[in-house]
Amino acid sequence: MSRAAAPVTRISAPSAHPFSPPDIVLATDPEDERIWVPLKKGVWLRPLMYNTVQGGWCEVVKVTGGGFVSRHRHPAPVHGLVLKGAFRYLEHDWIADQGTYIYEPPGEVHTLVVDDDCPEMHCFFAISGSVNYVDEAGRDVRAEDVFHRLDRAREHYEEVGLGADYVKNFVR
Ligand code: FE
Repeated sequence: MSRAAAPVTRISAPSAHPFSPPDIVLATDPEDERIWVPLKKGVWLRPLMYNTVQGGWCEVVKVTGGGFVSRHRHPAPVHGLVLKGAFRYLEHDWIADQGTYIYEPPGEVHTLVVDDDCPEMHCFFAISGSVNYVDEAGRDVRAEDVFHRLDRAREHYEEVGLGADYVKNFVR
């Protein structure tokens, strides 16, 4: 499929102000499985926007049954919306299913799990700052920011034949 013919995902309205940045129109094909960047077993990330100016990013997290995102916290707010399936946090007694809006306050430690009965979960997340992985005592293990995400995606897109520059679709 030629680049021109690929379906596009428009995620912002046309810029109205002369000082506004260009429209974000991603020349990416949402049906192309290669857009999913593997994070760990059972977890993939679809980049939407890497904010290299303010330090944050937007992505869709995909988890298949039994997968989980390890215990972590963020230094700044995170917003999410479940697009498909359901997940829960080990630290809470509620379930986030399709259509649920999620707010992760700064400093709150959480572990995202998708149970075996959910074959596939998709959640949009807007993340500020970083993901700081912590151990059982809440001590920092390692952190991942927008530049780590960018490097991971660049490596993946090179490997799958889309080319390292594919990440430029997402960088602002
Ligand atoms: Fe989180």
